[in-house]
Amino acid sequence: MNRPKRLLIANVAWARETAARNPSFFSNLAQGQSPHVLWIGCADSRVPTETITHCEPGDLFVHRNIANLFHPDDDNTGSVLEYAVRVLKVGHVIVCGHYGCGGVRASLMPPDPSLPRVNRRIAPLCSLARTHRAELDAHTDERARVDRLAELKVLDSGTKPTTP
Ligand SMILES: [Zn+2]
Repeated sequence: MNRPKRLLIANVAWARETAARNPSFFSNLAQGQSPHVLWIGCADSRVPTETITHCEPGDLFVHRNIANLFHPDDDNTGSVLEYAVRVLKVGHVIVCGHYGCGGVRASLMPPDPSLPRVNRRIAPLCSLARTHRAELDAHTDERARVDRLAELKVLDSGTKPTTP
């Protein structure tokens, strides 16, 4: 069975099981959303937000992209923040990075000419890596450099003023 078909079948099964477990689940969701958290995470398939946080539909307002990047001048991410804060009035904004991030690793390597959009997207991360070059170069292990830059990236996300 091809994967898209398998996903559709799994979705039908999930909906049936969810409705059987909680008959008012979907009618409650249809009333609207009031998540308390905006989660900005990486698009990496290994860090699915609701799965790793044990959350249910309606619990989180989620934006995911390569390397959980937030650019204040990016309308995609900015519109998510604007809506989350001004309309949904979330109480918390979480930028969640992860170790072993391929987007972070790419920012420490020469740009891949076959990925121009990715290169543009991670350019601020490359800049952050240059800013912290001495600290990153102190790690002889590549994995340790990638993981430290992932940490620095999350810390950097909370220090820049943003105006949604
Ligand atoms: Zn990642």
